[in-house]
Amino acid sequence: MKPAAFSYARPRDWPEALALIASGARAGSGTQSLGPLLNLRLAQPGTIADLRHLPDYAGVTRAGAVLRVGAGTTHAAIEDGAVPGRVGEIMASVARRIAYRPVRNRGTIGGSLAHADAAADWVAVLPALGGTAIALGPGGERRIALAGFVTGIFETALAPDELLRAVEVPVLPPTARWGHWKFCRKVGEFSKATACVLSVPGAAPRAVLGALDGPPLVIEDASALLADTEAEAARIVASFPELDDWRRAIALTALRRAVAAVKQP
Ligand SMILES: Cc1cc2nc3c(=O)[nH]c(=O)nc-3n(C[C@H](O)[C@H](O)[C@H](O)COP(=O)(O)OP(=O)(O)OC[C@H]3O[C@@H](n4cnc5c(N)ncnc54)[C@H](O)[C@@H]3O)c2cc1C
Repeated sequence: MKPAAFSYARPRDWPEALALIASGARAGSGTQSLGPLLNLRLAQPGTIADLRHLPDYAGVTRAGAVLRVGAGTTHAAIEDGAVPGRVGEIMASVARRIAYRPVRNRGTIGGSLAHADAAADWVAVLPALGGTAIALGPGGERRIALAGFVTGIFETALAPDELLRAVEVPVLPPTARWGHWKFCRKVGEFSKATACVLSVPGAAPRAVLGALDGPPLVIEDASALLADTEAEAARIVASFPELDDWRRAIALTALRRAVAAVKQP
C-alpha cells in the first residue's frame, strides 16, 4: 500500500516544531517505524514535521557527570563512537546489533524511544544505564526517568503536545561492568527476550528484563539476582504468567547470560 496524502513540514527551530505538533502534525525522525505505519495506513497524519534539521537534534555533549544525547542521534552514529567513554562502549555494542546498517543510518535513539516498541533495544538498555528522557513541551523541558518512560506497548509518558528532545545518561567509570543478552531468530530482527545488567563499583547493580508484552521490568537493586541467580531469575520470570512457556524459557536464559557476562573476570 501507499501512504495517504500528507504535507511535509521542516521546522527550523523548536518553537516551530512544537507549534506544528500542537496543530496536529506527526513528528518524524528516521521514519524507519513511521514509514511502515504510513504505508499500512495505520497512521494518516495531515502533516509530518521532519525534526531532523532542528538545531542540536543530533549529537552528544557532556555536562559534568552527564552525557546528553540528542534524540535525533542515529544508531549508526552511536555505533561509530559518537558517545564517549565507558557509556559509549556499551551503547556502541548495543547499537551495532540493532537491525541492519541501512536502518541504523536513519533510525534514531529518540524515534526508537518515542515509538516504544516493547522489543526495541534502547527501551531496555537506557533504563539499565540510569537514563533520563528530556521532553520539550509548551511549558519548557521536563525530565522523565527512562525507567518509567515506556508505559505500555507503543505508549510513553510523553504528553501529546511534547517532543522528545534528548536523553541523558550518567557518565560511567571505566570499571563499570555490563552484561547484555538479546535473543533474535536471525541477525537484524527485533528481540524476543532482552536482559541487561549494569554493575558499578560502590553502587547497587541494576537489571532490566525487556521484550515483554509491555514496559520493561526495571530492577533498581539487582543484588539478589547476582547473588542467587537461579532462584531469583526463576522468580522474576514466573511473575510474567502471560508469556508463553518458550518466551519464559528464553527470558530466563537471557537473565542468566546477562548476569554471567557481568560477572566475567
Ligand atoms: C527492518 C527493521 C528492523 C528493525 N530492527 C530493530 C531492532 O532490532 N531493534 C530496535 O531497537 N529497533 C529496530 N528497528 C527500529 C529502528 O531501529 C528505529 O529506531 C525505529 O524505527 C524508530 O526510529 P526513527 O528515528 O526511525 O523514528 P520514526 O520512525 O521517525 O518515528 C517513530 C515514532 O516516534 C515518533 N517520534 C519520532 N521522533 C520523535 C520525537 N523526537 N518526539 C516525539 N515523538 C517522536 C513518530 O511520530 C513515530 O510515532 C527496526 C526497524 C526496521 C525497519
